[in-house]
Amino acid sequence: MNTTPSNILVINCGSSSIKFAVINPTTEQALITGIAERLGETGSQIVWKDSQQKHTIALTTADHDLAMQSILKLLAEQQLIDSLAAIGHRVVHGGEEFTHSTLINEKVKKAIADCQPLAPLHNPANLLGITITEKYFEKMPQVAVFDTAFHQTMPAQAYLYAIPYRFYKEKSVRRYGFHGTSYRYVTTAACQQLGIDQQHSQLLCAHLGNGCSAAAISNGQAIDTTMGLTPLEGLVMGTRSGNLDPNLFSFLAAEYGYSLDDISHILNKESGLLGISELSNDMRTLEEAANQGNQQAQLAIAVFCYQLAKTLGGLATALTKIDGLVFTGGIGENSSYVRQQVIKQLAILGFKLDEQANLQNGNEQGVITQPNSTCALVVKTNEELMIARDTASLINQTTATGND
Ligand code: AMP
Repeated sequence: MNTTPSNILVINCGSSSIKFAVINPTTEQALITGIAERLGETGSQIVWKDSQQKHTIALTTADHDLAMQSILKLLAEQQLIDSLAAIGHRVVHGGEEFTHSTLINEKVKKAIADCQPLAPLHNPANLLGITITEKYFEKMPQVAVFDTAFHQTMPAQAYLYAIPYRFYKEKSVRRYGFHGTSYRYVTTAACQQLGIDQQHSQLLCAHLGNGCSAAAISNGQAIDTTMGLTPLEGLVMGTRSGNLDPNLFSFLAAEYGYSLDDISHILNKESGLLGISELSNDMRTLEEAANQGNQQAQLAIAVFCYQLAKTLGGLATALTKIDGLVFTGGIGENSSYVRQQVIKQLAILGFKLDEQANLQNGNEQGVITQPNSTCALVVKTNEELMIARDTASLINQTTATGND
C-alpha cells in the first residue's frame, strides 16, 4: 500500500495500563482498539479488538516500555504502523495553562510535568506515555488533549473555592473539572441528535462511568462542573466519595489515627458505591444484587441517584433553559434504572420519563422523555474519536501554515 499516512494513534497511558486505538479521521472509524493492562504486575496482557473480534496477548510481567513495544509489534502485524500520521495523547491535567489541545514540544512537556502536583496519579503516567512514544516515533507529531481544557471557560464564581485567595494566587488552587474531552464530544453529538444549534444551546450533561461528573454547558462552553482541583469532588462514584464535609479529615484522623495519605486512599479507593455497598464499585453488579434484595446495594444506588439528581438541579441554575439533559458514560448509556430514578427526582424541572424509550436506552435520537417533558437523552461518548479529531486538525493546521 502506498498511500499518504493519515491515521491517528490514540494513547491513554495510565499508571498500570495503556489504552490505544488507531482511528481513521476521515471515516471516524476505529481500525483497532485495545488495552495493555496490569503493567508492572504479574499477568500483564494486551486485550485488543479489530472490527471482527477480541484477542488476548499474554505479556507476563511488562512495564510500560515493554508493553508499548508489544503494541507496536501488533500494529505492525496488522499493517497499521505505516498508516500513522500522528499520535494523540490523553492528558488529564492541563492546569490553567492549556485551554485547547496542543502539539507537544519540550515546553508543553514541562508544563504537563508542572501540573503533576495537581494530578499526581495521572500526569506522570500521561507524560511517560508521551516520552515512550517519542522514543519509538521520533519524527511523528504528537498532540496532547487535556481533560481539563474544556472547563477553562468557567467563570470565577464557578471555579473559585471560598478559601483564602492566596491559595489560588500562589498554588492555583481552584476547581478545574475533568471529563472535558467527553463533554466536548457529547455536546456536539447531542445538538446534532436534537437538531439544535450548538451556539444557542443549553445543556446539562452527566458523564457517569467509574468516575462520575456533571456539567452545565451553555452555547457549547462549560460554565460549571462538579469535579474540582482533583477528580474526587462532586458526585458519588465507583470508589470515590464525591462531596463531603472537609472536617471529616480531622475527625477520622482523631478517631482512627489515620494519616492524610490513609484518608485520601479511603476517599479515593474505598468509598462511593463500593464504600456503601461493601460489595462492588460496579453499577451492573450492584443492580443485580439490589434486584436480589441486597439492601446495602439498594442503598448505594439510592445515594448515587439522589446526589446526582440534587447536583443536576443545582447545575441547572447556571443555565437559562434546558434544551437537554445528556446521560453518557458506562452507567449513563446503559443503566435505565439510574436514569429512571434521576428523572423521577427531577420532576420539579419538568422532566417526564418515557419508560419504554428509557428501557431501550433512548429512541432514535436517544431521547428518553415524553414529548411534553423537558428533554433528556442518552448519548454514547467517544473520547478516543475526539482525541483523533483534535490531533488530525492540529497536524492539518501545521501542514497548512508550514510550521513544525
Ligand atoms: P465506564 O467507566 O464508562 O466504562 O463505565 C463503567 C460503569 O458502567 C460500571 O459501573 C459499569 O457497571 C457500568 N455499566 C456498564 N454497563 C452497564 C449496564 N448495562 N447496566 C448498569 N451499569 C452498567
